[in-house]
Amino acid sequence: MKVKILKREFIDKDHYLLWVERPKDYNYKPGQFTYIESTINNNKVRRFYSFASHPEEENLLFYIKRVPNGLMSNYLAEIPLGSTIEIGNPMGHFTLDRADTDRVIFIGAGTGIAPIRPLTIEAVKQNKKVIVVHQERYKHLLVFRDLFEQLPIIYIPILSKEQSEYHGHVQDYIDRLIYNDATYYICGSRQFVIEIANLLKSKGINKIVIEAF
Ligand SMILES: Cc1cc2nc3c(=O)[nH]c(=O)nc-3n(C[C@H](O)[C@H](O)[C@H](O)COP(=O)(O)OP(=O)(O)OC[C@H]3O[C@@H](n4cnc5c(N)ncnc54)[C@H](O)[C@@H]3O)c2cc1C
Repeated sequence: MKVKILKREFIDKDHYLLWVERPKDYNYKPGQFTYIESTINNNKVRRFYSFASHPEEENLLFYIKRVPNGLMSNYLAEIPLGSTIEIGNPMGHFTLDRADTDRVIFIGAGTGIAPIRPLTIEAVKQNKKVIVVHQERYKHLLVFRDLFEQLPIIYIPILSKEQSEYHGHVQDYIDRLIYNDATYYICGSRQFVIEIANLLKSKGINKIVIEAF
């Protein structure tokens, strides 16, 4: 499906929010992703990106980090507004129907917070007890902080490179995050997801849903 780039907002030089036109009758679930495809330097390039938007919002939102020498993440940072890109159908099972518990704990690192934004909105709508943990390096990268602070959830931003209430890494706070009645959702780099999932398993947690970027 061909869609237009509508708006872009840089969080810093390497991180940006990208709003994209939503095709007519395009239905997706919170937590899903799609591919974005474009022709870059005469080659067709296709990469996956999670929806940071909730399906009840009008347009599609993505939260993207520029990867050094990365083809798509730099291309999308630079192409003019109004340009056309190709997106695929929604995909993935990082969705709330995987949780049969009233309590859900979302743990995202870096851009791994993207699918957690719509999942959190959805979990609140479903009256679940929600904890959102966002691991980042710096405070300015707590991109959805305003929203998370407004919602009736517990929001735990953990900063590794700046002083804050929660300083360090998710691993440092894991004992405070153990609930036997919760489903855990973890999203971030493969290394992060595996490490946190293994740590949770070692604490007796077995309801874990993961998405690795
Ligand atoms: C299910 C899924 C959902 C995703 N959702 C998002 C999202 O919401 N936001 C987002 O920003 N990304 C997301 N990604 C990652 C995205 O698909 C791309 O891999 C990423 O944007 C890099 O693509 P690129 O074309 O810019 O880099 P490429 O041209 O593919 O890579 C260039 C070089 O960078 C290296 N590289 C690739 N990725 C990284 C990285 N993360 N860190 C450091 N080096 C890297 C490669 O090994 C290569 O050497 C998701 C991936 C998956 C599988």
